[in-house]
Amino acid sequence: MKASSAENLRFFNTLTRTKEKFVPIEEGNVKMYTCGPTVYDYSHIGNFRAFIFEDLLRRWLEYRGFGVTQVMNLTDVDDKTIKGSREEGVQLNEYTARYVKAFFEDVARLNIQKAEHYPRATEHIPEMVSLIKKLLEKGYAYRGKDGSVYYEISKFKDYGKLARIKVEELKAGARVKADEYAKEEAHDFALWKAWDEEDGPVFWETEVGKGRPGWHIECSAMSMKYLGETLDIHCGGIDNLFPHHENEIAQSEAATGKKFVNYWLHNEWLLSEGKRMAKSFHNYYTLNDLMKKGYDPKAVRYLLLATHYRQQFNFTLEGLEAAKGAIERLTNFMYRLRDADGKGSGETSKQLMERLEKNFSEAMDDDLGVSEALAALFDFVREANNLLDSNLLRKEEAQQVQSLMTRLDGVLGIIGEVQKEAKLSKEAEGLITRREEARKAKDWKTADQIREQLKAIGVIIEDTSQGVKWRLEKR
Ligand SMILES: [Zn+2]
Repeated sequence: MKASSAENLRFFNTLTRTKEKFVPIEEGNVKMYTCGPTVYDYSHIGNFRAFIFEDLLRRWLEYRGFGVTQVMNLTDVDDKTIKGSREEGVQLNEYTARYVKAFFEDVARLNIQKAEHYPRATEHIPEMVSLIKKLLEKGYAYRGKDGSVYYEISKFKDYGKLARIKVEELKAGARVKADEYAKEEAHDFALWKAWDEEDGPVFWETEVGKGRPGWHIECSAMSMKYLGETLDIHCGGIDNLFPHHENEIAQSEAATGKKFVNYWLHNEWLLSEGKRMAKSFHNYYTLNDLMKKGYDPKAVRYLLLATHYRQQFNFTLEGLEAAKGAIERLTNFMYRLRDADGKGSGETSKQLMERLEKNFSEAMDDDLGVSEALAALFDFVREANNLLDSNLLRKEEAQQVQSLMTRLDGVLGIIGEVQKEAKLSKEAEGLITRREEARKAKDWKTADQIREQLKAIGVIIEDTSQGVKWRLEKR
């Protein structure tokens, strides 16, 4: 598909608080930076809401014909990773390796497409040091009494433009060394933290001293290294808007004199028990927690994806059950299409397909309106199922519907492969024959028992007006 089909694509830009037409710097290509996980613990599904939203964005851009270069950093040195590794008494890299591995396992299970680059903070210290040196030279940074290097926010006239805070009343020289702090505490923040005892063995000997980087400089250095001085899109959770993203702007724009990011997209929180899902509130689930309860990661993906990214929503197990049901409806529909061999629907199936494509695209073009897009999809499935019920879909029509469904699932990533030529085992074939014989003899009890036996080995039997049909249950 040509990029010109993206003419109506609009995103809500946090910087301007308005929906804006999307125009990338370079025609047909999108440079996108997404703040990645801090690998100090297992990510919970509240964290994954951001990564799934970013995956949907990426997939929609690709559907619209853009090439996408996505960079997602791994924060493997910061206050939290150092604290965790010291508490456990292990080396920092050994400590973070466990969570990096778990993160990528979850990424694969949740069917999140891989970014082009996953830079690690610990492997980009020289880039950070050179950015800090530039900020020192240009007068935006200074060395504190403790040897740390701080960013002087009063020197950057646009400070606060993303989070919309005013900093005029701030006390000159008030500083904050911690990576995370509240809006009311907007102060000069640490670019480079001079080594102290709490850092233990974690430090680098560099031109700006012995120490380690602050969290914010990591993202400025790594995003610009891989994507250039101005990015098209920068994403992240709303909790990163301040101070993290505000500080990224201050660092990058002061260093380059250029606009850092054209479109800022932020996703809202996932709630649990009415509060933000967070480690500190003890109200979180990891993907593993949910898989141990028997849930398929696809259902988790569906649930996290189905609500518009700028809306908060409350996670519940009931919601997850509903998501599971929605995926089953779609999967069963795909199986019915595979077996369709009807009389033909005239123009009806074509018209339904055109309507689906139009409504789905219009919804997604409008700031990723996924709820409306899914509503259009389920309307279509209902009407196409009606055609199938009346045996009105020809084989070719059903194939066209299948290929449209597959194309849209390339955006959603929730159905996946439907087995085309599934093969039954000898055991299953034998059972099906025996069940047929039992049915002919009207021995319903045996027939039901065999159905259960088949189910136990993953073969689902349906008695339809066209005879017995079977399919393999995905495991
Ligand atoms: Zn970041």
